[in-house]
Amino acid sequence: MDNTLVRLDILASEEAAEDVVGVLAMLAEDGWEEDDLPTGETRFRVHSEDSAFAERLEGALRSLPGDVQIERSAIARQDWTSTWRQFFTPVVCGDFVVLPPWLSHCEEARGRKPIVIEPKSAFGTGHHATTALCLGAISSLLEQGRLRAGQSFLDLGTGSGVLGIGCCLSGLRGVGTDIDALAVENARENAALNHVSGLEILPGSTEAVRGRTFDLVVANILAQPLMALAADIVALRGEHGALVLSGLLEIQADGVEAAYAAQGMPPARRLVNGEWCALVWA
Ligand code: SAM
Repeated sequence: MDNTLVRLDILASEEAAEDVVGVLAMLAEDGWEEDDLPTGETRFRVHSEDSAFAERLEGALRSLPGDVQIERSAIARQDWTSTWRQFFTPVVCGDFVVLPPWLSHCEEARGRKPIVIEPKSAFGTGHHATTALCLGAISSLLEQGRLRAGQSFLDLGTGSGVLGIGCCLSGLRGVGTDIDALAVENARENAALNHVSGLEILPGSTEAVRGRTFDLVVANILAQPLMALAADIVALRGEHGALVLSGLLEIQADGVEAAYAAQGMPPARRLVNGEWCALVWA
């Protein structure tokens, strides 16, 4: 297949724009881009794989009476798959590295616990500061012996399953929950991709595990739900359990911490990454 596309850039005066739209509506079945410029002119752009079509369209536009300028150029066709893929670089967070399946054997994976995440719509490729803060906190708690293999965890708002998978790769067993059905599906796929056993993904929020307690509760959701769910979240944390909260901006930390103080929690340790914050009780 020819590796170029034809592009027509069309600049029409205010008076000519309507006629251009008429021609495009008749001939450019695959659509066009249109921008109103501050000058009153309109800029149109059409892409096509078919150079004969582009010539026909250019001819029709040139026959219009008004002020219509046309520029034709050939542009290299993008490999959209690889363009998209280049954004998913490995992210190192403590002992963990989060990476997409096509990088699972990359240099960064050596000597670390690789969490393989298929980038889909669910949140949690490791690139967001809050995911990195949570993984960093879990990594430190493991290193300090505050968390150990065999213990239980709850990953509330599991998204892609990234935090729960990290816990399972460290020998813990537990539950991830999410109110978004697509996230639940995605987290289950990622759990299988990482061959982790001991990770149960449930739809819903705190009610999905009501009555149970965990050695670690990690919740990377937003400040508002963290405050609204403070009583539930504190109840889900076992007597000596660790609690890691994120999804909040540093400027929201006082408010979130106050909601947990009202449930009897002592002051938290704060981890900060840019404008984002995590609160850790351990
Ligand atoms: N845990 C992943 C991470 O750290 O990258 C994803 C975090 S993402 C910021 C928040 C996730 O929490 C979303 O998937 C959202 O659907 C889910 N969520 C939001 N509010 C929730 C709630 N009240 N209960 C359970 N899940 C919730």
